[in-house]
Amino acid sequence: MGSVADVFRGVRGEGRVVLLESEAKAVCVDYGVSVTRFGVAGGVAEAVDLAGRIGYPVVLKVVSPDIVHKSDVGGVLVNLKTPAEVASGYVKVVENAKKFRADAKIVGVLVQEMAPQSTEVIVGAVKDPQFGQTVMFGLGGIFVELLKDVSFRVAPLTVEDAKEMITQVKAYPLLRGYRNTPPADIDALVGILCNVSRLVMDYPEIKELDLNPIMVYEKGAKVVDARIILE
Ligand code: ADP
Ligand code: MG
Repeated sequence: MGSVADVFRGVRGEGRVVLLESEAKAVCVDYGVSVTRFGVAGGVAEAVDLAGRIGYPVVLKVVSPDIVHKSDVGGVLVNLKTPAEVASGYVKVVENAKKFRADAKIVGVLVQEMAPQSTEVIVGAVKDPQFGQTVMFGLGGIFVELLKDVSFRVAPLTVEDAKEMITQVKAYPLLRGYRNTPPADIDALVGILCNVSRLVMDYPEIKELDLNPIMVYEKGAKVVDARIILE
């Protein structure tokens, strides 16, 4: 459990409680949760170099402790296909962040693999004052925001619990395949739910966790954005 504790210590050492996306994804990887391949670049040349190693197309996101909702400030650019696009994109996302908040501290730019579009799901966890660590599952976008079609279980989760959480949501038939949407890899989602449960049980100092969205495919699932907040 060394590296997660190290990440948390580093975050607190800087007087923060909100992890950067890069930090939250490192924690996910440590717990066996697949994320889009990524690296943090401190400058244009490094971003182009990283993009080449990750493989085009890529996504750029500003990395700043002062910006929580990155796309709201123009801090996310998707589907960049060439080194030239990465170079100008780097400057753009930093500029947009500065426009939002002139004194925003910019750590760098996250360069990541572009995940092919697919069905989006959300996995979350919150520390309930009464029940303790509680895990949430739902389908992305309107299903969560508008329809509140989500399921909850108190951690720790068994594999059976995780399966139930998934089959319980009203939108579940979409995950079994519908019209031109192929069936989703339910086992991969069960794995993510169980790993998240393990993480929040191992680290009671996690106050909130949000994997939103997760792209789920016929084979596998990948976390595209991750947020973790400590007490
Ligand atoms: P925010 O901080 O605004 O939530 P996100 O990292 O979630 O930023 O990015 C916003 C949206 O951009 C995501 O909901 C997703 O639709 C898209 N996106 C972000 N990263 C990727 C990626 N690696 N591959 C594909 N789409 C992505
Ligand atoms: Mg997001």
